[in-house]
Amino acid sequence: MTGRQDLVYRVESDPGWGTIAAGTARVSLHPDETAPEVIVVSGPCPRCGHETVHAEPLVSYANALGASGLLSRLLLRRAAETGSREVEVICACPAIHPDAGEHKGCGASWVLHVEWGV
Ligand SMILES: [Zn+2]
Ligand SMILES: [Zn+2]
Repeated sequence: MTGRQDLVYRVESDPGWGTIAAGTARVSLHPDETAPEVIVVSGPCPRCGHETVHAEPLVSYANALGASGLLSRLLLRRAAETGSREVEVICACPAIHPDAGEHKGCGASWVLHVEWGV
């Protein structure tokens, strides 16, 4: 897929992109599928067509709260048990889109439903 670099950067979301991305995205769970800590989604952006990678931390809020030891393990277990997550992917393709300024990608975002351990 070649992609459309001429697309002007615009913060935009379209439910249809999630449907497209569901068919093209590659999802991997780290460190493993039974207790994922990070979801990595990669694949072509449904708007501009460039390859993009998104990492969704499942346990970032545990660190944000300053939780340590037991509490963060409890939060981690709860996150793992949930077994699904709506991941908002934001295009971060390496292309320089017009009007992007400091931003990466083309501005598109879409939601991907990810499940594990089912
Ligand atoms: Zn792009
Ligand atoms: Zn894009």
